[in-house]
Amino acid sequence: MIKHKLVLRFPASLVEQPLIYRLVKDYDLMVNILRADINPRKEGRLVMEVSGREEKYQQALQWLRDQGLRITNLQQQVIWRSDRCTQCGACSVICPTGALAISRPSMAIRFYEDKCVACEHCIKACPARAMEIYLNNGE
Ligand code: SF4
Ligand code: SF4
Repeated sequence: MIKHKLVLRFPASLVEQPLIYRLVKDYDLMVNILRADINPRKEGRLVMEVSGREEKYQQALQWLRDQGLRITNLQQQVIWRSDRCTQCGACSVICPTGALAISRPSMAIRFYEDKCVACEHCIKACPARAMEIYLNNGE
């Protein structure tokens, strides 16, 4: 049993396709949608947690790629450059999931990757450009 958080980007032509239904029905995967940016006229983006059997998961990824989707692992998507961080705390106020939070008692900012849903609010809010988005393709 594997569990991965993925970011799926797909063209406007696929926005109305029942992709999640197919993942559940044809590949026996469990899908938990963490974030959805869907607009019928634009590229869509889904952030989701997928769990199931490794073999089925790999087959499902290949099927999604064959449909024209770009898939990125969420852990590769948003990164915290601690060397650039000035500990200003601005991101902890706007992060909706607590992925960027003040750790007590040290009061230092920490990045909890497992809570991140790639909303990208911190990318715009960080004055030190310590939060980066990776746009490389990959599993
Ligand atoms: S992208 Fe940034 S603001 Fe959004 S959940 Fe992840 S860490 Fe928080
Ligand atoms: S907004 Fe940027 S510089 Fe400020 S604490 Fe967050 S990551 Fe660090």
